Amino acid sequence: MRYISTRGQAPDLTFEEAMLTGLARDGGLYVPETVPQLSHAQIAAMAGQTYEEVAFAVMRPFIGETFTDAEFKDLIAKAYAGFGHAARAPLVQLAPNHFLLELFHGPTLAFKDFAMQLIGQMFQKALGRSGKRVTIVGATSGDTGSAAIEAFRGLDAVDVFILYPHGRVSEVQRRQMTTPTEANVHALAVDGDFDDCQAMVKDMFNDFDFREAVSLAGVNSINWGRVLAQVVYYFTSAVSLGAPHRDVSFTVPTGNFGDIFAGYIAKRMGLPIADLVVATNTNDILHRTLETGAYTKEGVTPTISPSMDIQVSSNFERALFDAYDRDGSAVASQMDDLKAGGFQISQGAYQALQDTYKSGRASEGETKAAIKRYRAQHGELLCPHSAVGVHVAEAHQGPTPMVTLATAHPAKFPAAVEEATGVHPPLPPRMADLYERPERVTRAANDLSAIQAIIKERIAR
Ligand SMILES: *Cc1c(COP(=O)(O)O)cnc(C)c1O
Repeated sequence: MRYISTRGQAPDLTFEEAMLTGLARDGGLYVPETVPQLSHAQIAAMAGQTYEEVAFAVMRPFIGETFTDAEFKDLIAKAYAGFGHAARAPLVQLAPNHFLLELFHGPTLAFKDFAMQLIGQMFQKALGRSGKRVTIVGATSGDTGSAAIEAFRGLDAVDVFILYPHGRVSEVQRRQMTTPTEANVHALAVDGDFDDCQAMVKDMFNDFDFREAVSLAGVNSINWGRVLAQVVYYFTSAVSLGAPHRDVSFTVPTGNFGDIFAGYIAKRMGLPIADLVVATNTNDILHRTLETGAYTKEGVTPTISPSMDIQVSSNFERALFDAYDRDGSAVASQMDDLKAGGFQISQGAYQALQDTYKSGRASEGETKAAIKRYRAQHGELLCPHSAVGVHVAEAHQGPTPMVTLATAHPAKFPAAVEEATGVHPPLPPRMADLYERPERVTRAANDLSAIQAIIKERIAR
């Protein structure tokens, strides 16, 4: 299995190379050259299997020679052993035809643990073999950073630097990033917003001297290894609802488009998914794009669902690549236009996107009302991101079972949940002392060269 860039100007890579590299050298994102198919019988055989067994069956065709079967099974087992639920991704019923996929039983209480825990294991194995050392730099609106730090803390072949927007992440998110004591973990609070952080990370990857000097590696949601790990729970949940004998739809609270793109890959692999619904908060570039065909930047408005407060959605480039029939030069020219503020998607590509994705948006008021309603009527405490999802899902309900992805635990966003319901969501017992642990963080200016200097100095220690 080879991986190709969405901009068509970077060398093809193996799974291992694509995973360790993150962003392609032409600025594009890596995607598999072809999407492997699972037969009806292979999907049917997943009924009754453990999460780990399904994970192996779904991901194995993508990894080529990078790991042997025995190694890969071992990495999967280690990645999910620390989850607080035997099913890893349990499904609960909200209403007659509406289900919630709880993706928040990992160590940092958000779905990003599914990918990051596995990436941590895969990096350690691959780097251990080659004796190399890498510097992981990532931008976060909160959950990626905590998941990355949790996955890489204490690994000797890796330094991990996480840039987060100062004052714009929840206290639980911040503490999950600033309380680990391992010397290879570095939390940087940047005086800017998430898009500033993300843009600086991109710039570091495009600064080839810096990239070589520090052996830069990326684990942001553009990393193909992360998207791949997220394909698995579409299979486990759909199969438990009757797939492949029955269609299932999904609504996905969306920011950088990684999680919903994983759903699209599951569909391409043969999982019978009827609708894939993009749910956004008021930062609704994706919803507007799917409604109008114009992808145009606007400022970011802080919301109670901060992990979806984005202006541009980096993984959307992968969707565009397929919508443009994998024409890398068309994608590259649109991405150039984006620097100037936006672009109009061609008629054919727009049609392809509309055929693949539906969308909706929840205002702040609608999100709070959904948290309140689901507590009162269904006894379910939703985090604000999951509440955006259920609000949008309600508008797309039909005869097909709808699964809404619950992307974080309510205790990760206690203020918003308490305001809407009067109930303070408690942290699970295994992290109850989070508020007592001392914090360690570096405040950084919104300035690329200043941040590069901090990184160089720290890894030289
Ligand atoms: C990251 C995140 C999202 C958005 O996921 P994308 O893959 O970026 O679309 C939604 N909810 C929560 C809680 C998150 O952490």
